[in-house]
Amino acid sequence: MTGWGTATVAGVRRPVPQAVELRLDVHDRVQHLPGQHYVVRLTAEDGYTAQRSYSVASAPGDPLVELFVERLDDGEVSTFLADVVEPGDILEVRGPIGGWFVWDGADPALLVGGGTGVVPLVAMLRTARELGRTDLLRIAASTRTLAGLPYADELLAAGALVVATREAHGIRPPGRLTAADLVPLWEPGQTAYVCGSSGFAESASRLLVDLGFPAADVRVERFGPS
Ligand SMILES: Cc1cc2nc3c(=O)[nH]c(=O)nc-3n(C[C@H](O)[C@H](O)[C@H](O)COP(=O)(O)OP(=O)(O)OC[C@H]3O[C@@H](n4cnc5c(N)ncnc54)[C@H](O)[C@@H]3O)c2cc1C
Repeated sequence: MTGWGTATVAGVRRPVPQAVELRLDVHDRVQHLPGQHYVVRLTAEDGYTAQRSYSVASAPGDPLVELFVERLDDGEVSTFLADVVEPGDILEVRGPIGGWFVWDGADPALLVGGGTGVVPLVAMLRTARELGRTDLLRIAASTRTLAGLPYADELLAAGALVVATREAHGIRPPGRLTAADLVPLWEPGQTAYVCGSSGFAESASRLLVDLGFPAADVRVERFGPS
């Protein structure tokens, strides 16, 4: 899909504080690949528009497109999506978009997400489940607190390594993701998919390259300010 289209909001959930999960029935939908995103455009009564990108969390086989939006207190678009949008609303959307940060469902992958950056990685995990190929994925997620991590239960059930920077997680004291965390997740032939804030993406991809991961095999998606 190259132009703008519309989607009906089919479901709204708030599974973690300060965030919203939107389930969208995208009209004339083109099936996405795991890792791709949509752009959502809001238009005010005076014609002012604002648009932002949101990764798809759902697998291609899901009849609805699921987005997970972190609410930024001073955010223009995320506050509207989190506070105002209700089931039955129509949103203007464009997508799916992205050809690089995409997992093919066939090759081994190391998924490294920080905070909301796990969203496209969850789409990859769900796709792997659809294909019966979860053996291809190794996952590491970093979060401030476990309660604030999107899809925490699903990630933990898939065997993801979860590190929390502001609280102990099990017997693990608070702390950032380290090279030692990533070493056991390495498998031959992996492509790494790193997603999160600009700072997280930079430090996590540097950890991988410093470990000897070929830079050409590290794909990065940054959720920074637009
Ligand atoms: C490819 C792509 C995929 C994305 N997927 C997701 C997703 O799945 N879920 C999601 O919640 N967001 C995602 N984002 C980020 C999203 O596009 C917006 O940037 C975010 O929702 C903030 O928009 P806003 O209008 O609410 O804030 P703005 O009004 O744009 O900014 C408000 C304030 O927050 C700062 N800011 C803006 N964006 C961020 C950010 N991401 N983190 C921290 N501070 C920020 C700004 O500098 C400003 O100070 C993605 C971005 C990209 C490029």
